[in-house]
Amino acid sequence: MNEMISKQALRMLETYFGYTSFRPAQEAPVASLLRDEDVIGIMPTGAGKSICFQIPALCKSGLTIVFSPLISLMKDQVDGLVVQNIPAALINSTLTQAEFNKTMYEVRSGKIKLLYIAPERLGSNFFCNVLRALPIAQVIVDEAHCISEWGHDFRPSYRLIGEWLRSLPKRPVIGAFTATATKSVENDIKQLLGLQEANVYVTGFDRPNLSFSVIRTPKRMDYVVHYVRQHMSENGIIYCSTRKDVERVYDNLTRAGIKTGYYHGGLSDEVRHKMQNAYADDTLQVMVATNAFGMGIDKSNVRYVLHYQMPRNMESYYQEAGRAGRDGAPAECILLYSGQDVQVHKYLIEQSIESPIRQEIEMRKLQAMIDYCFCSSCLRKYMLSYFGESTVWTSCDNCSSCKGDNERVNVTREAKAVFRAIMGTEERYGATMIVAIVRGERTERITRAGHDALPVFGALSDVDEKSLKGLIQQFVASGYLHSSGGKYPVLSLTAGAEEVLAGRKEVEEIRQHVSVPSRRSKVSTRTGTAGTRNAAGGLFEHLRQHRKKLSKEENLRPYLIFPDTVLIDLANLRPTTLGEFANVKGVGEAKLKKYGLSFLQAISEYKGDL
Ligand code: ADP
Repeated sequence: MNEMISKQALRMLETYFGYTSFRPAQEAPVASLLRDEDVIGIMPTGAGKSICFQIPALCKSGLTIVFSPLISLMKDQVDGLVVQNIPAALINSTLTQAEFNKTMYEVRSGKIKLLYIAPERLGSNFFCNVLRALPIAQVIVDEAHCISEWGHDFRPSYRLIGEWLRSLPKRPVIGAFTATATKSVENDIKQLLGLQEANVYVTGFDRPNLSFSVIRTPKRMDYVVHYVRQHMSENGIIYCSTRKDVERVYDNLTRAGIKTGYYHGGLSDEVRHKMQNAYADDTLQVMVATNAFGMGIDKSNVRYVLHYQMPRNMESYYQEAGRAGRDGAPAECILLYSGQDVQVHKYLIEQSIESPIRQEIEMRKLQAMIDYCFCSSCLRKYMLSYFGESTVWTSCDNCSSCKGDNERVNVTREAKAVFRAIMGTEERYGATMIVAIVRGERTERITRAGHDALPVFGALSDVDEKSLKGLIQQFVASGYLHSSGGKYPVLSLTAGAEEVLAGRKEVEEIRQHVSVPSRRSKVSTRTGTAGTRNAAGGLFEHLRQHRKKLSKEENLRPYLIFPDTVLIDLANLRPTTLGEFANVKGVGEAKLKKYGLSFLQAISEYKGDL
């Protein structure tokens, strides 16, 4: 352990949260806040940010105020703390005057240790004065990137926090936490919250429990329906680029008998709220959504995120895929790629962005996303290096490249023929015509134009039409060809193609062997994460149902009772006494007392797979 963590902090961690040690990335921020030194913590989703400030809050005398951007997030966090016997409360616009008064009374009498506040409340002078009179030991700004216009979730009300901090009679220690790590966001956080002297801790971006795959298939709908059916007891998100696709995927899954929800910007607040709630409490198995389904999702047991289309850049992809497996248990992130996605994105960038410089930047980001889809080496390594992190290992053992699903095939012969056909027809045609020429089809259009006289005519008569079209898509994606986009895209050669024609470069295709799309990946041995859900068998499902029943009775999100990781361990360990139950990671004293006997009974009643 690099940092000295007090015994008291470790005791609190075990008593309240049921964990015997801090994660390495949590130690420094916890120690720093305990020493009353400001902290900026940049940690990826699922790294365990909350504990970094919740434990110091429990150790300090006085109140911790936590600013949090969304009412739903705030409620989840507070519910999760209260069920662990941690005195927490929230103040936001949903409270009645009586509830507000009661909460403030409890805060003033020192009963509450953590008070979650929506920053909008700082707009009221009266409220600011009330807060100023409290013994504030620590102020935490959660999702701190919301303060910056450079971030993706700018909230003007976050700007009130800095001013309010400056007005306090005694400056408390301040911690700002976020998963967004760009320098401009970090600088804004420093400047606007007065954190120039803060200790900045940046945790690696790797999420070892997530497996990453790219599947290149034209039959995406079949894949999705098949995949979801193979994972009936799991929750997942399917991201689509357009509202129309959301509705199509939703229809198909619903027809296949799957409890599916949908979510996009065109729905009323009421419907969105309903969908989000039903998904959070496990009533819905799958949510099909556009990227509008975002920050409010604190659900820890999302077991897979499928992308029905390739997103526009790696930043969006990592953020959306990262909603899987927040609980640290194995989860899958699968991107379904089709060459059409490239055309659509290029078209949208050209149409929606005026500035040529911005266009150029977006195109470069898009190219990096395409390269990810065609990356034949470790996908995780590629992704981390994109975000500026170097890795010492070469294989993660937990992505579609490392699991050996790909085969490299030399396609230089095919590439040269296609490039020559494009050159011979003066870059005037799209893929259909070029394929017909290289396959030697004597259509009326071809003979009339005299293309059957080209030396390359019929040079690839041994290759079928579909494979050739797929290859052309890959040549575009890999930057050998340029496609004009729009309704009738025309192909032209790039400098890369000229290198190939000059014999200076070979072209490889990555061929995938996708048969049954349900392969549940093993968790990388590099990570040491607990066993997979599959290993836990039917007892896990039985415990999940039991948790669901309790969740309904108590009106509490299922994952706040116990996350999936605890259920997996329970199913594997099958404790028979409260003592054995207490050894399960993530079971603190309060939850043991509250739910221990009920889960022990559920385990003893289970008669399956013994
Ligand atoms: P973040 O806010 O960074 O996305 P959370 O605070 O929600 O992450 O934590 C993610 C998961 O990790 C939660 O299920 C949490 O209980 C678990 N966790 C946090 N700290 C520890 C720890 N020291 N040991 C084991 N699990 C932990």
